[in-house]
Amino acid sequence: MENYGKKHGFTIIKKRLLRHDDQSIKHRGFGCEFGGRHKPKKGVDINEHRDRKSKRQECPWKANFNCPKNSNNITLTTFNNCHNHVLLSNTEEYSTKYRCIPEDVLKEIQFFTENGNLPISIQRKLLKARFPTSSILDCDLTNAIQKFKVKPDEVHDASNLLKTLIQNKSNDPRWFCRVST
Ligand SMILES: [Zn+2]
Repeated sequence: MENYGKKHGFTIIKKRLLRHDDQSIKHRGFGCEFGGRHKPKKGVDINEHRDRKSKRQECPWKANFNCPKNSNNITLTTFNNCHNHVLLSNTEEYSTKYRCIPEDVLKEIQFFTENGNLPISIQRKLLKARFPTSSILDCDLTNAIQKFKVKPDEVHDASNLLKTLIQNKSNDPRWFCRVST
């Protein structure tokens, strides 16, 4: 879920948690960091606290999951995919998301991905050979590869990508695209 939020330009916070008798998770709710109601403290000088502006502005985004007892099935019970604020731009997302990968390594990943479309297994080997001192987590590498695979403007608007795919499909019957949710 955290990754989902990052990808879509907001931060997910964990909300309600209920457990079964055996301590396994029964219910878990997630919300947007801008969710909830901002309660200003009474009698506080507004000027003094201006820069500590609360993030809470009742953003309605939420996702709730239920897990029945003795079952591995997780059900998405509520999903409200709406925000009442601007989502982070790609540049902000980019800078925080890849802080853990050094700039020169990142450039290399970009090169491998854009020019060779190399899979993660090969990139890992090449990067290890090239930068023996730095260790890169697989998840970070995957994220970085994904990032360079898709053009930034398409990441920003995933429906563009979908449109292109559908267009390709109608132009050429050999094309197929499947939408998985
Ligand atoms: Zn939100």
